[in-house]
This record gives sequence, C-alpha cells and structure tokens, in this order.
Amino acid sequence: MSRDDTLAGKVALITGGAQGQGAAEGRLFTAAGATVVLADVADAEGKEMADEIGGRYLHLDVASEEEWDTVVADVMVTHGQLDVVVNNAGIFRSARLVQETIEQWEQVIAVNQTGVFLGMRAAARAMIEAGRGGSIINISSVAGLEGIFGSMAYSASKWAVRGMTKVAAKELGRYGIRVNSIHPGLIATPMTAAFPAIVDEEKRRRNEKATPLGRVGTPEDIANMALFLAGEESSYCTGQEFVVDGGIHS
Ligand code: NAD
Repeated sequence: MSRDDTLAGKVALITGGAQGQGAAEGRLFTAAGATVVLADVADAEGKEMADEIGGRYLHLDVASEEEWDTVVADVMVTHGQLDVVVNNAGIFRSARLVQETIEQWEQVIAVNQTGVFLGMRAAARAMIEAGRGGSIINISSVAGLEGIFGSMAYSASKWAVRGMTKVAAKELGRYGIRVNSIHPGLIATPMTAAFPAIVDEEKRRRNEKATPLGRVGTPEDIANMALFLAGEESSYCTGQEFVVDGGIHS
C-alpha cells in the first residue's frame, strides 16, 4: 500500500467501515495521513477495524436522523473539523419485481437511499459551518447505471444515489464542497461472498471472461478511487459518476 500525505490534516468519516470497501477506504485514507472515523452498526467488528488502522469507531445506523446528528456533533467536538464523508454503508437484497415485499423494499431504501440523503445533509451542514469546503463521496453501483435483473429495490436506491449526488453537487459547489458518486462493479467483499459469480466456478469464469480486465474487483480498487475523490487531485470534479468495474459496463 502506498503511503503519502494526500489527506494530511484531514478528518474523514466512513460509513459501513467495519468490513469490505469501507474498511479498505479507512486503511488507505489512514495511510494517506487522514484522521479516520469509521461508523457502522456492526460495533464489535467496527471497533476492531478502527483499532487495526489506528482510527476511531462510532456507532451509526445511517437510516437514523438522530444518530447522524450525534455522530457528526461528536466528530466536530472531538476533531474540530470534517473534511471527507464517504457514504459507503449499504445492503443488498435480491428479489424479482413480482416477489418484492414492501418490508424489504423499505429496508433497502432506508439504508441505501435515505441513509445517503441523511449523510449528505449532516455532512454539508457541518462543512458549511466550518467553512473549509469538503468532499462527499457516495457509493452507488453499476446498478445505478443500468437495470440489474432481480434487484428492484437495490437498483432504485443506487439510481437515487446517482441523482442525489448531482443535486447536492449543484447546491454545494458554492461552499467548496464537492460531491461525486462511485459505481463499483462486482467487488469481492462479505456482501458478495455468496454471489453465484463468486462461488460458482463456471459463473465466475464466465464473468471474468465478460470483464475486459479479466478479474473480480477488490475493495482496494474502490478505495483508490475514493482516495482520488477525497483529495485535491480531483479538485475540479463534482457531480460526476466514477465507474470502477474492470470495464464490463463500457
Ligand atoms: P459489505 O456488506 O461487505 O459492507 C457493508 C457495511 O455496511 C457492513 O460493515 C455493514 O455492517 C454496514 N451497514 C449495513 N447497514 C448499515 C446501516 N444501516 N448503518 C451503518 N452501517 C451499515 O459491503 P461492501 O461490498 O463493502 O459494500 C459497500 C458499498 O458498496 C455498499 O453501498 C454497496 O451497496 C456498494 N457496492 C458493492 C458492490 C460489491 O460488489 N461488493 C458493488 C457495487 C456497489
């Protein structure tokens, strides 16, 4: 892992940071000099990950307005600033349209869509008050760029993240706050550990063949893009979609 000072002096809050992509972002941001706060509902795993990278852990259900207020207030009191927020927490539930239940639909929308709305709002309020600008990075998906079979609620939430990112970018540019979305393809994390394209040898080979870069993505592939968007190297990018999928959706 490269070590540099891309994020020296910055404070970054990463939701869903206990494992998978959020944990990889926490590790990379720390190596790049940031003070990292991981937030999650998986408290034991989140604390362990924060200890491992030398960061802090805070409990946060991203679907809770109250918990967002508490977490951002804690960060501002403890660190005095909030420069980067990665709205990474998400859940995947598979169901075809005709089988989708309202309970599952609402659960997915609450975490993946309302969670990102609340995260952007809480971050923007704190960043505007601090007057230091900032970078908000929303984790959408390739499911936010096209229809993915059997994922009605998930796709709806990820298309929403893509749209909300663009609205926020237009509203927050005047404060020096940039807002972008990342669209991962298939990434090997606990979320996808039981996906057929990961566990079924034949489907895995077929997927690799269909991917121009010939492999499944890693959490580090996404963390590298998040680092670019968090730091000054992306200083003129806002409201944009950054696809990290090995070229499969090109
Ligand atoms: P993951 O399941 O490995 O990790 C997600 C983390 O989010 C977990 O630590 C979980 O505890 C946390 N979380 C879940 N609900 C939460 C809540 N209400 N509040 C706070 N934290 C919560 O998943 P991942 O693969 O690392 O996914 C990270 C993001 O990337 C998600 O938004 C996901 O939808 C998106 N994504 C993943 C893939 C992929 O192939 N893995 C592809 C495209 C997009």
